[in-house]
Amino acid sequence: MYETERQDLVDKISLKGIYDISVLKAIGEVERHNFVPDAMKHHAYKDAALPIGYGQTISQPYTVAFMTQALRLKPGYKVLEIGTGSGYQAALLIKMGMDVYSIERNVDIFYQTRKLLDKLGLRINTKCGDGTLGWEEYAPFNGILVTAGSPTIPKSLMKQLAVGGKMVIPVGNKYSQILKIVTKIEEENFEVEDVPEFAFVPLIGREGWKDK
Ligand code: SAH
Repeated sequence: MYETERQDLVDKISLKGIYDISVLKAIGEVERHNFVPDAMKHHAYKDAALPIGYGQTISQPYTVAFMTQALRLKPGYKVLEIGTGSGYQAALLIKMGMDVYSIERNVDIFYQTRKLLDKLGLRINTKCGDGTLGWEEYAPFNGILVTAGSPTIPKSLMKQLAVGGKMVIPVGNKYSQILKIVTKIEEENFEVEDVPEFAFVPLIGREGWKDK
């Protein structure tokens, strides 16, 4: 279903500057319409963020592609995602051959998405909890993807990044953020590149925003 629409989306984001073939291929394969509420299905292949309920959104495909491309992933890498949300980003990572760990703090979203991932047969390791603290048990990660906007870069996530690994994280106030691309050169030595103008829902947690 929606094959033409999906291919059009791939063309659109490639024109916007996404060149990583493995990312484009995954966007062309993952059925985004499975990750949005029924009423939104006919909008699933627009390059737009869409509401998934509970005040949360599925990120815009271009943003998802940009963040994934920035991680410079290779198949078999261990990747941590903070903010499972709809599960779309995690599904792309699985299609790209990654070993995926994903954390969601909202219990309702967590169970709803876990059910969907099982139904689609996607082997993603998920946990319900505060992702600002990372997932120590499985660290270090070759890539960390934070899909909600944070006031600062959580120290726990810096620590859990493997040497040579990259993290992408939106940092700013609750309304607008700069995307930071962090590379761990060696323990305690990080390189940070800024990409302006993205908008994400807030990252809430011990090392994120306070809840309400
Ligand atoms: N990656 C998602 C986009 C999710 S939107 C997708 O592909 O659809 C951001 C998500 O981050 C929301 O579901 C929100 O509940 C969650 N979130 C916010 N703070 C969090 C935290 N501290 N730990 C884990 N998840 C968090």
